[in-house]
Amino acid sequence: MTHLPRFETQDISWAPPRRHRGQLRCLVAGGAGFLGSHLCDRLIEAGHSVICIDNLLTGRTKNIAHLMEHPDFTFLRHDVIAPLQMYGELDRIYNLACAASPPKYQLDPLHTFQTCVAGSMNLLSLAERTGARILQASTSEVYGDPDISPQREDYRGRVNTTGPRACYDEGKRAAETLFHDLQAIRGIDTRIARIFNTYGPRMDPEDGRVISNFVTRAIRGAPLQLYGGGTQTRSLCYVDDLISGLVALMESETVGHDPVNLGNPGEYTVAELAHIVRDMCESRAPLVVSDLPLDDPMQRCPDITRAETRLGWRPEIALRSGLVPTIAYFRAEIAGVETATAP
Ligand code: NAD
Ligand code: UDP
Repeated sequence: MTHLPRFETQDISWAPPRRHRGQLRCLVAGGAGFLGSHLCDRLIEAGHSVICIDNLLTGRTKNIAHLMEHPDFTFLRHDVIAPLQMYGELDRIYNLACAASPPKYQLDPLHTFQTCVAGSMNLLSLAERTGARILQASTSEVYGDPDISPQREDYRGRVNTTGPRACYDEGKRAAETLFHDLQAIRGIDTRIARIFNTYGPRMDPEDGRVISNFVTRAIRGAPLQLYGGGTQTRSLCYVDDLISGLVALMESETVGHDPVNLGNPGEYTVAELAHIVRDMCESRAPLVVSDLPLDDPMQRCPDITRAETRLGWRPEIALRSGLVPTIAYFRAEIAGVETATAP
């Protein structure tokens, strides 16, 4: 049963001096997750300092283990539903905190909704107090099960307010509203990225998303399940491209505060994806049909004209190229688990 979670306010004293000119003091909420950990890497590589905040709900410390000893990296276990009292200064806040996999975010819908709404509010308050620019990781889910394709940012979406996905979809929509209103009323410097399906190394093999499911099952020779027969489409962006888009959006001085789609417009049916993954894994795993989850969107394809014209960004990594390191990563993960559990 879901319960109203209570979390303590966390006092954070974090006032790292700038070690060099141009260094930004960044906070990444959700930084131990799939996308967040790649973002932490990118920011550290660029010479910035990072405080990573995560409640480890779906994130894993192994994603950031290599950063733990880095002098510019700090990890803090904290749930963003609780306010943060930060006594240091900040230049950038990236809000990626929220489980992204449907089976995971549906486990505790109330917590998911609160993460999106109360979590965003707390981070927006922190941005106001510190003067930081803040970016929201929103989602293509704000378009729901769309009746137009590709989806442009001015499309208002078709979302079920009471379905199993609503805690996430409506939570993310409400968060966009908060970002918009606090920018307009209080002048907080906001950015909104509408992220489309993204994949790559560090996805949790057990998280239930399509690429993690298909690759791990193909490697193990287990049936790949096509929910609803696999005629629905998704457009898949490789993680490195997505992180470049997030940073470009955050650092643009001219993009404005409107939402910006970030994704790869290459569109595939789920059945096509299954065939591609199975071929690339050299697997003979069978494909089986199972039920389509309620409210599962039938089409998903980003119109990225806004990102191209305002940011000069477009993805560069084709699906098959991105799947090579992704499959290698899942093979290593599975080998690690099998070694650890061997008699
Ligand atoms: P993920 O589940 O791997 O990462 C989310 C991280 O947030 C995890 O580390 C989790 O522990 C943390 N988290 C969850 N609730 C929290 C809370 N209340 N307080 C603190 N930390 C919390 O997912 P991801 O794929 O890395 O997605 C990151 C962000 O990007 C999410 O906000 C998601 O909605 C958004 N997004 C992702 C995709 C995608 O395809 N990967 C697509 C659209 C949007
Ligand atoms: N899907 C599937 N088999 C799986 C996992 C997912 O057919 O083992 C389908 C799912 O029904 C959806 C698409 O793949 O239509 C993408 O699912 P995912 O959970 O990755 O993300 P979503 O875009 O639905 O949030």
